[in-house]
Amino acid sequence: CGIVGVVGSQNTKNILLNGLHKLEYRGYDSAGIMISHNEEMFVTKTPGRVAELEALVANKESAGTGIGHTRWATHGEPTENNAHPHLSKSGRFGLVHNGVIENFEWLKETYLSDITLSGDTDSEIVVEVVDYFSKQGLSTIDAFSKMLEEVKGSYALALIDTEDDSQIFLAKNKSPLLVGLADGYNLVGSDAMAMINETDRFVEIMDGEKIILSATNMLILNKDNEEVTRDFYVAEIDA
Ligand code: GLU
Repeated sequence: CGIVGVVGSQNTKNILLNGLHKLEYRGYDSAGIMISHNEEMFVTKTPGRVAELEALVANKESAGTGIGHTRWATHGEPTENNAHPHLSKSGRFGLVHNGVIENFEWLKETYLSDITLSGDTDSEIVVEVVDYFSKQGLSTIDAFSKMLEEVKGSYALALIDTEDDSQIFLAKNKSPLLVGLADGYNLVGSDAMAMINETDRFVEIMDGEKIILSATNMLILNKDNEEVTRDFYVAEIDA
């Protein structure tokens, strides 16, 4: 199971697929990607290998902001609906998640009694909770923060708001997630290997932080929403 994401590249599709291939060693049962660009977006997923996903997206556009996922099912069978990325019912938000949301049933009963979910994962609940808070009038970062206050469990999360795909929202708790800085675009991944063909400059993410990642900037907010500064480090890994 693993996550990869790209903000603001012309080559996003290929970077995502390459990253997912690099994450294959972790083991998985399903794979998927989402790319959003200029009011157009697609989500493609399959209960199969990354090579199958690659064939399915062969004719899709590559540019934009994207997230990709290899799934190791914990809640819900390995089916297409249960594969990530999960798109909220409104079509606005897309999300990938690694880990386990422990209180997903409570979240569902508390916030999502009106919604018929597409699948049986704990992860789909998370994107619908963000959508719920967004509909209450919160900005996306505030809806994302409010979701994080409510969610219990382990997670690495990457969220796209299709209404502003110039950025990706990130957070983690007890699951790995790392930012990669490239020239003119930025990346996120479960490990450095997923990004090493693009960059050797990485920035750690700490549990409890929120990240707004754009093509040229990484904004880190701590639990109290104060801005944190952190230098990148250079990794010496052969691609
Ligand atoms: N719990 C989530 C699911 O079953 C994520 C699993 C993973 O980490 O790949 O879909």
